Amino acid sequence: MNKPLYSIRMRARRQGQHLSGAERLSSLEAVEQLAADMVQRAMHHARGRAESIELTIEQISAAEVERRPLPDLQTWLVDDYRQGRRAAAEILRRAGVAQGAIDGAMSQIAAGAAPGAQTMRGAMLVDADSGQRLEPDQARGVRVSRMDLTDQARRKLDSELNRLGLNNAHVREALVLAAKVLSAPGIVAELCWSDDPDYTAGYVASAAQGYVRFPHLKPLGEERGGRAFFVRTEGRSLADLIDYLQKRPILFDQIGRLHSARPWEAHL
Ligand code: AMP
Repeated sequence: MNKPLYSIRMRARRQGQHLSGAERLSSLEAVEQLAADMVQRAMHHARGRAESIELTIEQISAAEVERRPLPDLQTWLVDDYRQGRRAAAEILRRAGVAQGAIDGAMSQIAAGAAPGAQTMRGAMLVDADSGQRLEPDQARGVRVSRMDLTDQARRKLDSELNRLGLNNAHVREALVLAAKVLSAPGIVAELCWSDDPDYTAGYVASAAQGYVRFPHLKPLGEERGGRAFFVRTEGRSLADLIDYLQKRPILFDQIGRLHSARPWEAHL
C-alpha cells in the first residue's frame, strides 16, 4: 500500500513526426516489463517503425496517488463515420458544448489540428462556449499521464470487456485516459478518434453519459486523429487544469457498468 509507484511515459517519433505514445503507473516489480512492452509497441506501430524513442520513468510517492472509479461504458452502433460524428455531436450538445465548438473541433481533428495539418502529440483544449483553442502549444497539446488501473480493477475490466468482445489495448487505455480527463476540474466532455489507420472507432466522454464508443468516427485508412477536451474554466486557472491532467497520479480501483452495444437511434 505504501510502496512507491513509477510513472512510465513513452514517446516515439518517425520521420520527424510523433508516431506513438503511452503512459502507465507501475509497481517496482512490473516497471521493467512495462517499459519493454512500450518499446515493442513503438517498434511495431501500424504507421511504421519508430526512429527514436524517449522513455521517462519517475518515482511517485504512494501518498500522492488518488483513487477513483471508472465511468460506465456504452457502445452506440453506427453505420459509418458520418453517422458516428452526428451521434457524437449529439452527446456533446447534451453535455453543454456549443455547436460551433463541436464543429470546429471535429473539423480540426479531421484536418490535423497541429500546425502544418499534422496530428497533434496530445489533446486540444477547446473552450466549450467559444470554441477557442486554449492549449499553449498547438503541436504538442496536453498529454494526460500518471493514470492506471489497480491490478484488481484491471482483472475485472479484462473479463467484462472480453464478455463484450472489446478487450483490446485501444479500449482499455482510452477508458482510463477518459476517466482521468472527466475527473479534472473544468472539463465538460472529451472527443477522440485514433490516429491508427486500422482503427476507426472513437468516443465521447461526459459526466452524464460516461464513455460512449462509436465503431466509426473516421474512415478506414485515415491516419489523422486526435483528441479535444472541452473546458469551461469558470474562473479557475488553465495552468492548474493542465497541471492536473499531466501530473496528478490517479489509480482507478473500481470499474463502471459496461453495457452491450445498441443502435445509436435507441439512445435518442
Ligand atoms: P490514440 O488513441 O493513441 O491513437 O491517440 C489519438 C490521438 O489522441 C493522438 O493523435 C493524440 O493527439 C491524442 N493523444 C494520445 N494520447 C494522449 C494522451 N495521453 N493525452 C492527450 N492526448 C493524447
